[in-house]
Amino acid sequence: MSSPLALLGGPPVIDVPGPHFAWPPIDDSDVEAVTGQLMSAVSVPDRSGVVAELEDALASLLGVRHVVTTSTGTAALHSMYAAAGIGPGDEVIVPALTFHATATPLFHLGARPVLADVNEHGQLDLNDAARRITLRTKAVVAVHLWGLPENMDNLISFTARHNLMLLEDGSHAHGATWRGQPVGSFGRAAAFSMNGPKPLSAGEGGCVATDDTELYYRVLLHGQYNKRCRREIPADHPLAPYAVTGMGLKLRIHPLAAALAHSQLPRLESFLTGREAVAAQMCKALRGVPGIAVPHPPPHARPAWYALPLRYHPEQLAGLPVERFIEALHAEGAVETDLPGSTRPLGDHQLFRTPGALLPGYADHQGQPADSFANARRVHGSTLKLPVWHREKGLHLAESYTTAIIKVAEHHKDLVT
Ligand SMILES: *Cc1c(COP(=O)(O)O)cnc(C)c1O
Repeated sequence: MSSPLALLGGPPVIDVPGPHFAWPPIDDSDVEAVTGQLMSAVSVPDRSGVVAELEDALASLLGVRHVVTTSTGTAALHSMYAAAGIGPGDEVIVPALTFHATATPLFHLGARPVLADVNEHGQLDLNDAARRITLRTKAVVAVHLWGLPENMDNLISFTARHNLMLLEDGSHAHGATWRGQPVGSFGRAAAFSMNGPKPLSAGEGGCVATDDTELYYRVLLHGQYNKRCRREIPADHPLAPYAVTGMGLKLRIHPLAAALAHSQLPRLESFLTGREAVAAQMCKALRGVPGIAVPHPPPHARPAWYALPLRYHPEQLAGLPVERFIEALHAEGAVETDLPGSTRPLGDHQLFRTPGALLPGYADHQGQPADSFANARRVHGSTLKLPVWHREKGLHLAESYTTAIIKVAEHHKDLVT
């Protein structure tokens, strides 16, 4: 057995102080791209320059006809829903366990996010989703949580059977594929974040991807008014007269952010293969460790490994509470292990319970009873989230983290008695 737990006075596994994971990795080519952009243009009002280059590269990565970049992923989701025609009284089924911005833009369209519980893998429970369909239900959102692709076979047949629109939030999953097809290319449209820690980072940014040209025009009208709309929406199109004002919102990406993402994009494939190797090593080391279950994506899914979500089973560790397990891990120096913070059961947020205090249009909105999302709560409360490093240097840290987990699991009895 290894040395005593650091929490009980033993030597820690990791003695390098954190943070142990930083993202995105910035190299000379990023500095050159961003400073080059700074010297050439700091505002791009139409689809030209670095904005066009980034959108073309993203469209080619995702295998879609159109991509529109936005200021954030939240803005991308807002534009996607607006462009998909989601409006007052419409209901959209959203998994109860995701980042809140998957659903919150719906409040700004007068629509209702209808939360549906998740299954044991944290993915949409289609039986629960089916029970929540009403005459007002318009769409279902697939979220590829932690970069693990949703089961798109099931989602496609579900939405086809119920005649619902399929939309995607790919914010954790740039470059992930299902049966070789990129996530974000399955639904009518997809939204992505390119926020700081996301697999493809602009610092701040987002995008909408779609094959649907009409929807594309509406994305432009939602958040990219004037020049871009005037130049891209054909003059004889019925919506062309709206080009100058659009729908009144301005949600464009900053060109310096676009330059960063454009510079990062050619390295995405090597980030993904690096993360794949590190995730495989971590899963291999942890397989069979009592109290810890590693994810098992199907062989035809290629995850982006935004994080490694481990499931904690206290019943295999004499009931040791997950909080105590994490405390022990932190003492071992594995400081970047935690329960997911902002990705949590949406029903827990005040905005989903009583939105009316902030959004007067929702004064009558009845929050869904929190106990209807038992799996979302259970999965969230037992997910240990670890960073997945992407290169050689990370292999050593990844090994130290799994060593720390194995050590705490081996010594769990010392913490229970
Ligand atoms: C990050 C994230 C968002 C929001 O993106 P921002 O760029 O932070 O606005 C939406 N959905 C998911 C799943 C996310 O992880």
